[in-house]
Amino acid sequence: MIKPIVRIAPSPTGKLHLGTARTALFNYLFARKNKGKFIIRLEDTDKKRSTLKYEKNIISNLKWLGLESDAKIERQMERLKIYQKYASKLLKEKKAYLCFCSAQELDEERQRQLKRKQPPRYCGKCRDLSKKEIAKLKKEDRRPTIRLRVPDDRGTIKLKDLIRGEIKENAGLIGDFVIMKSNEVPLFFFAGVIDDSLQKITHVIRGEDHISNTFNQILIYEALGLKKEIPEFAHLPMILNSDRSKMSKRKGDTTTVEDFKNLGYLPETLINFMALLSWHPRRDDQKGKEDKDEIYSLQELTSLFKLEEVGKSAAIFDKNKLDYLNGYYLRRLKNDELKNLICPKHLAEGWKCEDKILERAITLVKDRMKKLSDFSELADYFFEEPVYNKELLIFKKSDEIYTQRGLGATTEELSKLKESDWEKQGRLEERLRKVVKEEKLNNGDVFWPVRAALSGREASPSPVELLWALGKNESLKRLDKALEALNKN
Ligand code: GLU
Repeated sequence: MIKPIVRIAPSPTGKLHLGTARTALFNYLFARKNKGKFIIRLEDTDKKRSTLKYEKNIISNLKWLGLESDAKIERQMERLKIYQKYASKLLKEKKAYLCFCSAQELDEERQRQLKRKQPPRYCGKCRDLSKKEIAKLKKEDRRPTIRLRVPDDRGTIKLKDLIRGEIKENAGLIGDFVIMKSNEVPLFFFAGVIDDSLQKITHVIRGEDHISNTFNQILIYEALGLKKEIPEFAHLPMILNSDRSKMSKRKGDTTTVEDFKNLGYLPETLINFMALLSWHPRRDDQKGKEDKDEIYSLQELTSLFKLEEVGKSAAIFDKNKLDYLNGYYLRRLKNDELKNLICPKHLAEGWKCEDKILERAITLVKDRMKKLSDFSELADYFFEEPVYNKELLIFKKSDEIYTQRGLGATTEELSKLKESDWEKQGRLEERLRKVVKEEKLNNGDVFWPVRAALSGREASPSPVELLWALGKNESLKRLDKALEALNKN
């Protein structure tokens, strides 16, 4: 295979969307796998909606994912002269023409066609204006757009999509379309053809919402005499919610990479997750590897990726899978790495990053975290004293009297322990077992109430782990309070 050159060409009219990030990833994987190039380009010709803020959001989030451009990032608005030159050439060759129809006229025409149940299509009113007519219209201060003249005899446009196979469109249905707006700014798909051809793009891999633009673009290539340079096309299926509805921010769906990042999903999770939207590495390609349980690093994905294996049907966004993957990648982090990611952004108010207890809390709740933002909730009792309630303190196979004895004896036994012994979980466990034995109690009279007294929760790490994490002072304080609550009527 020739070394491919691919690109992702987002319009900076919104923050980096998950779908765009997945398109970027597939382009990136395809380029890396085949030792080619991956280019980012900004299609900012929609002047009203494009902003620098979105541009920065897109580039920085792609970078966060590890997807960086192999070439300078170009902006279309800085290349207007180039597109204007190509448009003038088309005008000169009569492959395009000036169109003076106003937005209102065009809208009225469209409404008429819709009423007659005809596909909306430009009627060609300005197709053959004479020089004189043009001069007259210009005098009236009408500012023309430029339309591509779709050849009458063009017939069917065929496209061999690398994912979807052959797709066709009848050129007669398209009608002459605008390539340059009246302010001499190109439509993105016109500029896109010129950029793709100047950047020698070999494969255009993009969302299936662009299929109809592809037919227009093929006509543009033909008009520009660039037929030989038409790249290969691959249109990726959409990503849908599990109920097959469209993902939408308005509905409250998480749609931007920044949102996922803010919730505490890791870049390696998103890469792994997005790669498996409409594609899965084939088992035969993974010989010699143990069952991977869907876990793939960017590097592994790169070596396994095959564009022709991407499926046609919509990908379903599976939140459980995303959480499973993130839990996996979080557990793999060293505690101090995890601490740096939690601090300070995912720490509840009033908690301090320097607190020694923080590291211990991380050690103990790490396995249950699905995302960084889960930490504060999972670990809140390390930082805030629990509210005691009698029922919780009594194990279901124990009773008030045995629980009082168990807690009382444990508190006494533990208060004799030196501060340094609290560092050793083995020592703490020995003491709890000693109390059970000497007082002739059951484990449930000691281990349960100690655990509940320290965490205030039905489920939490073991009493020994909690004693170790909270340290002598705090543990004894909580045990006393729990006893007090138990003694109250
Ligand atoms: N600018 C288009 C978009 O953001 C992409 C066009 C293309 O990939 O050719 O959807």
